[in-house]
Amino acid sequence: MATRVEQVLFEDSRAMGVRVLRDNGDPREIPARVVADCSGRATRIGSQLGLRGPVPGLKKSSLWGYYRGGKRLDGIDAGETTIFMLPQGGWFWYIPLPEDTVSVGIVADPEYVFGDDKDLNAAFVSRVAQCPPLSARLSEAHLIGPVRGLRNLAYRNRKIVGDGWLMVGDAAAFLDPIYSSGLFLALASAELAANCVHEALASGNLSQAKLGEFAAPLSEGIEVIRRLIHAFYDPNFNFQKFVARYPGQRTALIDCLVGDVINKDMDSFLDALASMTDPPEPLNTIN
Ligand SMILES: Cc1cc2nc3c(=O)[nH]c(=O)nc-3n(C[C@H](O)[C@H](O)[C@H](O)COP(=O)(O)OP(=O)(O)OC[C@H]3O[C@@H](n4cnc5c(N)ncnc54)[C@H](O)[C@@H]3O)c2cc1C
Repeated sequence: MATRVEQVLFEDSRAMGVRVLRDNGDPREIPARVVADCSGRATRIGSQLGLRGPVPGLKKSSLWGYYRGGKRLDGIDAGETTIFMLPQGGWFWYIPLPEDTVSVGIVADPEYVFGDDKDLNAAFVSRVAQCPPLSARLSEAHLIGPVRGLRNLAYRNRKIVGDGWLMVGDAAAFLDPIYSSGLFLALASAELAANCVHEALASGNLSQAKLGEFAAPLSEGIEVIRRLIHAFYDPNFNFQKFVARYPGQRTALIDCLVGDVINKDMDSFLDALASMTDPPEPLNTIN
Protein backbone atom coordinates (compact mmCIF):
# COMPACT_ATOMS: atom_id res chain seq x y z
CA MET A 1 0.00 0.00 0.00
CA ALA A 2 1.74 3.22 -1.13
CA THR A 3 -0.20 5.59 1.14
CA ARG A 4 -1.92 4.31 4.26
CA VAL A 5 -4.67 6.16 6.10
CA GLU A 6 -3.50 6.00 9.70
CA GLN A 7 -6.40 7.87 11.21
CA VAL A 8 -9.58 9.67 10.26
CA LEU A 9 -9.53 13.13 11.85
CA PHE A 10 -12.63 14.23 13.76
CA GLU A 11 -13.71 17.46 15.40
CA ASP A 12 -16.34 16.38 17.89
CA SER A 13 -18.26 13.82 15.83
CA ARG A 14 -17.63 15.44 12.43
CA ALA A 15 -14.98 13.93 10.13
CA MET A 16 -12.57 16.63 8.96
CA GLY A 17 -9.99 14.67 6.94
CA VAL A 18 -7.38 11.95 7.24
CA ARG A 19 -3.85 11.50 8.48
CA VAL A 20 -1.87 9.40 6.01
CA LEU A 21 1.54 7.80 6.07
CA ARG A 22 3.36 7.76 2.73
CA ASP A 23 5.59 4.83 1.82
CA ASN A 24 8.63 7.06 2.38
CA GLY A 25 7.48 7.36 6.00
CA ASP A 26 6.24 10.96 5.71
CA PRO A 27 3.02 11.61 7.63
CA ARG A 28 0.60 14.13 6.18
CA GLU A 29 -2.82 15.50 7.10
CA ILE A 30 -5.35 15.93 4.30
CA PRO A 31 -8.49 17.95 5.01
CA ALA A 32 -11.72 16.67 3.43
CA ARG A 33 -15.34 17.75 3.41
CA VAL A 34 -16.42 14.10 3.25
CA VAL A 35 -14.42 10.99 4.15
CA ALA A 36 -15.61 7.81 2.40
CA ASP A 37 -14.28 4.71 4.13
CA CYS A 38 -13.60 2.17 1.36
CA SER A 39 -10.94 0.27 3.31
CA GLY A 40 -12.61 -3.15 3.03
CA ARG A 41 -12.16 -5.51 5.97
CA ALA A 42 -9.78 -3.05 7.59
CA THR A 43 -12.94 -1.02 8.41
CA ARG A 44 -10.80 2.05 9.14
CA ILE A 45 -13.59 4.16 10.68
CA GLY A 46 -15.42 1.19 12.22
CA SER A 47 -12.25 0.11 14.04
CA GLN A 48 -11.36 3.64 15.09
CA LEU A 49 -14.83 4.38 16.51
CA GLY A 50 -15.46 0.88 17.89
CA LEU A 51 -18.51 0.38 15.65
CA ARG A 52 -17.61 -3.03 14.26
CA GLY A 53 -19.22 -6.12 15.74
CA PRO A 54 -20.23 -9.70 14.89
CA VAL A 55 -23.35 -10.73 12.97
CA PRO A 56 -25.47 -12.89 15.29
CA GLY A 57 -26.02 -16.38 13.91
CA LEU A 58 -23.19 -16.14 11.37
CA LYS A 59 -20.00 -17.44 12.91
CA LYS A 60 -17.90 -18.81 10.08
CA SER A 61 -14.19 -18.95 9.38
CA SER A 62 -12.25 -19.45 6.17
CA LEU A 63 -8.92 -20.76 4.94
CA TRP A 64 -7.84 -20.51 1.31
CA GLY A 65 -4.90 -20.99 -1.00
CA TYR A 66 -3.94 -21.42 -4.65
CA TYR A 67 -2.95 -24.62 -6.44
CA ARG A 68 -1.26 -25.21 -9.75
CA GLY A 69 -2.25 -28.28 -11.77
CA GLY A 70 -5.77 -28.89 -10.40
CA LYS A 71 -8.09 -30.90 -12.66
CA ARG A 72 -10.71 -29.01 -14.67
CA LEU A 73 -14.05 -30.06 -16.07
CA ASP A 74 -14.23 -30.82 -19.79
CA GLY A 75 -14.93 -28.37 -22.63
CA ILE A 76 -16.72 -25.14 -21.91
CA ASP A 77 -17.16 -26.19 -18.27
CA ALA A 78 -13.40 -25.94 -17.68
CA GLY A 79 -13.76 -22.50 -16.10
CA GLU A 80 -16.71 -23.44 -13.94
CA THR A 81 -16.69 -22.85 -10.19
CA THR A 82 -17.51 -25.94 -8.12
CA ILE A 83 -18.88 -25.89 -4.58
CA PHE A 84 -18.21 -29.00 -2.48
CA MET A 85 -20.59 -29.37 0.43
CA LEU A 86 -19.19 -30.84 3.65
CA PRO A 87 -21.28 -33.41 5.56
CA GLN A 88 -20.42 -31.73 8.88
CA GLY A 89 -21.60 -28.33 7.55
CA GLY A 90 -19.67 -25.77 5.55
CA TRP A 91 -18.30 -25.90 2.03
CA PHE A 92 -15.27 -25.60 -0.24
CA TRP A 93 -14.98 -23.39 -3.32
CA TYR A 94 -12.93 -24.48 -6.33
CA ILE A 95 -12.45 -21.61 -8.79
CA PRO A 96 -10.36 -22.22 -11.94
CA LEU A 97 -8.15 -19.23 -12.79
CA PRO A 98 -5.76 -18.48 -15.69
CA GLU A 99 -2.30 -20.09 -15.93
CA ASP A 100 -3.37 -23.49 -14.64
CA THR A 101 -4.14 -22.03 -11.20
CA VAL A 102 -7.17 -22.77 -9.02
CA SER A 103 -8.38 -20.91 -5.96
CA VAL A 104 -9.50 -23.33 -3.25
CA GLY A 105 -11.04 -22.30 0.04
CA ILE A 106 -13.12 -23.60 2.88
CA VAL A 107 -15.87 -21.81 4.83
CA ALA A 108 -17.22 -23.56 7.94
CA ASP A 109 -17.48 -23.29 11.71
CA PRO A 110 -14.23 -22.07 13.29
CA GLU A 111 -13.80 -25.29 15.28
CA TYR A 112 -13.79 -27.37 12.10
CA VAL A 113 -11.75 -24.96 9.95
CA PHE A 114 -8.87 -24.54 12.39
CA GLY A 115 -9.22 -27.70 14.51
CA ASP A 116 -6.21 -28.10 16.80
CA ASP A 117 -3.75 -27.07 14.12
CA LYS A 118 -1.61 -24.06 14.95
CA ASP A 119 -0.30 -23.87 11.42
CA LEU A 120 -2.68 -22.56 8.71
CA ASN A 121 -1.07 -24.66 5.95
CA ALA A 122 -1.38 -27.87 7.99
CA ALA A 123 -5.02 -27.13 8.89
CA PHE A 124 -5.91 -26.37 5.28
CA VAL A 125 -4.17 -29.40 3.76
CA SER A 126 -5.82 -31.62 6.35
CA ARG A 127 -9.31 -30.24 5.61
CA VAL A 128 -8.75 -30.69 1.86
CA ALA A 129 -7.76 -34.31 2.48
CA GLN A 130 -11.03 -34.84 4.38
CA CYS A 131 -13.06 -33.94 1.27
CA PRO A 132 -12.49 -36.86 -1.16
CA PRO A 133 -14.05 -35.35 -4.33
CA LEU A 134 -11.96 -32.19 -3.83
CA SER A 135 -8.71 -34.01 -3.08
CA ALA A 136 -9.32 -36.12 -6.23
CA ARG A 137 -9.38 -32.87 -8.26
CA LEU A 138 -6.11 -31.85 -6.60
CA SER A 139 -4.35 -35.23 -6.75
CA GLU A 140 -1.72 -33.94 -9.22
CA ALA A 141 -1.71 -30.32 -8.05
CA HIS A 142 0.62 -28.47 -5.70
CA LEU A 143 -0.08 -25.60 -3.36
CA ILE A 144 1.55 -22.33 -4.39
CA GLY A 145 2.09 -19.48 -1.98
CA PRO A 146 0.90 -19.18 1.59
CA VAL A 147 -2.49 -20.27 2.92
CA ARG A 148 -4.53 -17.35 4.23
CA GLY A 149 -7.17 -17.43 6.92
CA LEU A 150 -9.92 -15.43 8.57
CA ARG A 151 -11.35 -16.51 11.90
CA ASN A 152 -14.38 -14.17 11.81
CA LEU A 153 -15.71 -13.80 8.30
CA ALA A 154 -18.90 -11.90 9.12
CA TYR A 155 -19.11 -8.47 10.73
CA ARG A 156 -21.15 -5.30 10.52
CA ASN A 157 -20.91 -1.78 11.85
CA ARG A 158 -23.55 -0.41 14.20
CA LYS A 159 -23.52 2.78 12.14
CA ILE A 160 -22.29 3.33 8.57
CA VAL A 161 -22.69 7.07 8.21
CA GLY A 162 -22.08 10.16 10.33
CA ASP A 163 -21.45 13.86 9.93
CA GLY A 164 -18.93 14.16 7.12
CA TRP A 165 -18.27 10.43 6.72
CA LEU A 166 -19.71 7.22 5.36
CA MET A 167 -18.71 3.62 4.69
CA VAL A 168 -19.13 1.57 1.50
CA GLY A 169 -18.43 -2.02 0.46
CA ASP A 170 -16.75 -4.32 2.94
CA ALA A 171 -15.92 -1.33 5.12
CA ALA A 172 -19.64 -1.25 5.98
CA ALA A 173 -20.33 -4.98 6.40
CA PHE A 174 -19.40 -8.44 5.19
CA LEU A 175 -21.48 -11.56 5.64
CA ASP A 176 -20.26 -14.64 3.77
CA PRO A 177 -18.66 -15.34 0.37
CA ILE A 178 -21.11 -18.11 -0.61
CA TYR A 179 -23.04 -16.02 -3.16
CA SER A 180 -20.26 -13.94 -4.66
CA SER A 181 -22.32 -10.87 -3.82
CA GLY A 182 -19.38 -8.96 -2.27
CA LEU A 183 -18.08 -7.23 -5.39
CA PHE A 184 -21.53 -6.31 -6.67
CA LEU A 185 -22.54 -4.91 -3.27
CA ALA A 186 -19.27 -2.97 -3.01
CA LEU A 187 -19.88 -1.33 -6.39
CA ALA A 188 -23.60 -0.76 -5.84
CA SER A 189 -23.04 0.77 -2.40
CA ALA A 190 -20.30 3.01 -3.81
CA GLU A 191 -22.69 4.20 -6.53
CA LEU A 192 -25.45 4.95 -4.01
CA ALA A 193 -23.02 6.70 -1.67
CA ALA A 194 -21.50 8.74 -4.52
CA ASN A 195 -24.92 10.13 -5.41
CA CYS A 196 -25.53 11.10 -1.78
CA VAL A 197 -22.10 12.73 -1.47
CA HIS A 198 -22.67 14.64 -4.70
CA GLU A 199 -26.01 15.99 -3.47
CA ALA A 200 -24.64 16.73 -0.01
CA LEU A 201 -21.70 18.69 -1.43
CA ALA A 202 -23.97 20.59 -3.82
CA SER A 203 -26.35 21.53 -1.00
CA GLY A 204 -23.57 22.30 1.48
CA ASN A 205 -25.25 19.97 3.97
CA LEU A 206 -22.80 17.25 5.00
CA SER A 207 -24.79 16.04 7.98
CA GLN A 208 -25.41 12.40 8.84
CA ALA A 209 -29.07 12.84 7.83
CA LYS A 210 -28.18 14.11 4.35
CA LEU A 211 -25.29 11.72 3.66
CA GLY A 212 -27.24 8.83 5.16
CA GLU A 213 -29.92 8.66 2.49
CA PHE A 214 -28.03 5.71 0.98
CA ALA A 215 -27.91 3.72 4.22
CA ALA A 216 -31.49 2.39 4.31
CA PRO A 217 -31.48 0.84 0.80
CA LEU A 218 -28.04 -0.62 1.49
CA SER A 219 -29.00 -2.18 4.82
CA GLU A 220 -32.25 -3.54 3.31
CA GLY A 221 -30.20 -5.15 0.50
CA ILE A 222 -27.71 -6.63 2.97
CA GLU A 223 -30.64 -8.02 4.97
CA VAL A 224 -32.02 -9.84 1.88
CA ILE A 225 -28.65 -11.48 1.35
CA ARG A 226 -28.40 -12.35 5.05
CA ARG A 227 -31.74 -14.14 4.79
CA LEU A 228 -30.53 -16.21 1.83
CA ILE A 229 -27.25 -17.02 3.59
CA HIS A 230 -29.21 -18.41 6.54
CA ALA A 231 -31.26 -20.48 4.10
CA PHE A 232 -28.03 -21.91 2.65
CA TYR A 233 -26.82 -23.00 6.08
CA ASP A 234 -30.21 -24.50 7.03
CA PRO A 235 -29.76 -28.26 6.44
CA ASN A 236 -33.50 -28.58 5.74
CA PHE A 237 -33.55 -25.96 2.98
CA ASN A 238 -33.09 -27.03 -0.63
CA PHE A 239 -32.67 -24.62 -3.59
CA GLN A 240 -34.03 -27.10 -6.13
CA LYS A 241 -37.21 -27.56 -4.11
CA PHE A 242 -37.51 -23.80 -3.63
CA VAL A 243 -37.36 -23.09 -7.39
CA ALA A 244 -39.73 -26.00 -8.14
CA ARG A 245 -42.28 -24.63 -5.66
CA TYR A 246 -41.78 -20.96 -6.59
CA PRO A 247 -40.71 -20.80 -10.26
CA GLY A 248 -41.74 -17.13 -10.34
CA GLN A 249 -38.98 -16.35 -7.81
CA ARG A 250 -36.16 -17.61 -10.02
CA THR A 251 -35.16 -14.13 -11.22
CA ALA A 252 -35.22 -12.72 -7.69
CA LEU A 253 -33.10 -15.65 -6.55
CA ILE A 254 -30.50 -14.98 -9.26
CA ASP A 255 -30.46 -11.27 -8.38
CA CYS A 256 -29.85 -12.21 -4.79
CA LEU A 257 -27.08 -14.68 -5.66
CA VAL A 258 -25.09 -11.97 -7.47
CA GLY A 259 -25.89 -9.23 -4.94
CA ASP A 260 -28.18 -7.21 -7.23
CA VAL A 261 -30.69 -6.48 -4.48
CA ILE A 262 -30.43 -2.78 -3.73
CA ASN A 263 -33.58 -0.72 -4.30
CA LYS A 264 -35.48 -3.81 -5.49
CA ASP A 265 -38.74 -5.05 -4.07
CA MET A 266 -37.80 -8.45 -2.67
CA ASP A 267 -40.80 -8.84 -0.33
CA SER A 268 -42.51 -11.68 -2.21
CA PHE A 269 -39.16 -13.48 -2.55
CA LEU A 270 -38.57 -13.18 1.21
CA ASP A 271 -42.12 -14.39 1.94
CA ALA A 272 -41.55 -17.43 -0.28
CA LEU A 273 -38.21 -18.07 1.44
CA ALA A 274 -39.83 -17.81 4.89
CA SER A 275 -42.31 -20.54 3.91
CA MET A 276 -39.41 -22.98 3.51
CA THR A 277 -36.88 -21.84 6.12
CA ASP A 278 -37.30 -19.81 9.30
CA PRO A 279 -35.86 -16.30 9.00
CA PRO A 280 -32.99 -15.46 11.37
CA GLU A 281 -33.48 -13.12 14.30
CA PRO A 282 -33.94 -9.56 13.02
CA LEU A 283 -30.94 -7.26 13.39
CA ASN A 284 -31.07 -3.67 14.54
CA THR A 285 -31.22 -1.44 11.50
CA ILE A 286 -27.90 0.19 10.67
CA ASN A 287 -27.89 3.82 9.70
C1 LIG B 1 -12.65 -15.67 1.61
C2 LIG B 1 -13.38 -14.67 0.73
C3 LIG B 1 -13.80 -15.05 -0.55
C4 LIG B 1 -14.52 -14.12 -1.35
N1 LIG B 1 -14.96 -14.52 -2.59
C5 LIG B 1 -15.69 -13.65 -3.33
C6 LIG B 1 -16.20 -14.01 -4.62
O1 LIG B 1 -15.98 -15.12 -5.09
N2 LIG B 1 -16.93 -13.08 -5.30
C7 LIG B 1 -17.20 -11.83 -4.78
O2 LIG B 1 -17.90 -11.01 -5.42
N3 LIG B 1 -16.72 -11.47 -3.60
C8 LIG B 1 -15.98 -12.33 -2.86
N4 LIG B 1 -15.50 -11.95 -1.65
C9 LIG B 1 -15.82 -10.60 -1.18
C10 LIG B 1 -15.08 -9.52 -1.95
O3 LIG B 1 -13.68 -9.81 -1.96
C11 LIG B 1 -15.31 -8.19 -1.24
O4 LIG B 1 -16.70 -8.06 -0.94
C12 LIG B 1 -14.89 -7.01 -2.12
O5 LIG B 1 -13.51 -7.11 -2.43
C13 LIG B 1 -15.13 -5.70 -1.35
O6 LIG B 1 -14.59 -4.63 -2.04
P1 LIG B 1 -14.13 -3.34 -1.26
O7 LIG B 1 -13.65 -2.38 -2.32
O8 LIG B 1 -15.16 -2.91 -0.31
O9 LIG B 1 -12.88 -3.80 -0.35
P2 LIG B 1 -11.45 -4.36 -0.80
O10 LIG B 1 -11.52 -5.03 -2.12
O11 LIG B 1 -10.94 -5.14 0.37
O12 LIG B 1 -10.58 -3.04 -0.99
C14 LIG B 1 -10.18 -2.28 0.13
C15 LIG B 1 -8.89 -1.56 -0.23
O13 LIG B 1 -8.59 -0.62 0.82
C16 LIG B 1 -7.19 -0.70 1.08
N5 LIG B 1 -6.98 -0.28 2.48
C17 LIG B 1 -7.29 -0.93 3.62
N6 LIG B 1 -6.94 -0.21 4.70
C18 LIG B 1 -6.40 0.95 4.23
C19 LIG B 1 -5.84 2.10 4.85
N7 LIG B 1 -5.78 2.23 6.19
N8 LIG B 1 -5.35 3.08 4.06
C20 LIG B 1 -5.42 2.99 2.69
N9 LIG B 1 -5.95 1.92 2.05
C21 LIG B 1 -6.42 0.92 2.81
C22 LIG B 1 -6.85 -2.17 0.88
O14 LIG B 1 -5.46 -2.31 0.65
C23 LIG B 1 -7.69 -2.48 -0.36
O15 LIG B 1 -7.00 -2.16 -1.53
C24 LIG B 1 -14.79 -12.83 -0.85
C25 LIG B 1 -14.34 -12.46 0.42
C26 LIG B 1 -13.66 -13.38 1.21
C27 LIG B 1 -13.20 -12.94 2.59
